[in-house]
Amino acid sequence: MSSHSTTDLRLREALEASGQRFTEQRAAVFHYLATTDVHPTADEVFLAVRQELPVISLATVYKSLETLVGCGLAVKLSYADHSARYDGRTDPHHHARCVVCERVLDLPGEISSGEIEALRGTAGAFTVTGYRLELSGYCPECLLSQEAAVSA
Ligand SMILES: [Zn+2]
Ligand SMILES: [Zn+2]
Repeated sequence: MSSHSTTDLRLREALEASGQRFTEQRAAVFHYLATTDVHPTADEVFLAVRQELPVISLATVYKSLETLVGCGLAVKLSYADHSARYDGRTDPHHHARCVVCERVLDLPGEISSGEIEALRGTAGAFTVTGYRLELSGYCPECLLSQEAAVSA
């Protein structure tokens, strides 16, 4: 329970700094994001949080997720097909996304700031405010089934 009270305190402070109220729903969503590294969709967050808070609605989960993102407590990963995943890790890190099952994994590696600076130099009149790196490929499970399909 002590880990819950530490995350609750962090949540309360961040919400209040953004003029938002601490609610049980926001806390439940935040706890789930803080304890998983699967980068869930809003639907997946809803299914998980409902175990703890059966009365919560999908709309409330959506709003709670957006509030957490707005307070800097979570990161939203948006994709070209309009889907989105949420990350409880807000420190800079990179992702690998499986092109088959769309699972998103954290990568331990980093790009050196020198390389980022070199890229920024090629941007010309474009003002760079950030960047996002995502590797794409096959997760171990999908690679196995891919290989099985090829050799069958
Ligand atoms: Zn996969
Ligand atoms: Zn991540």
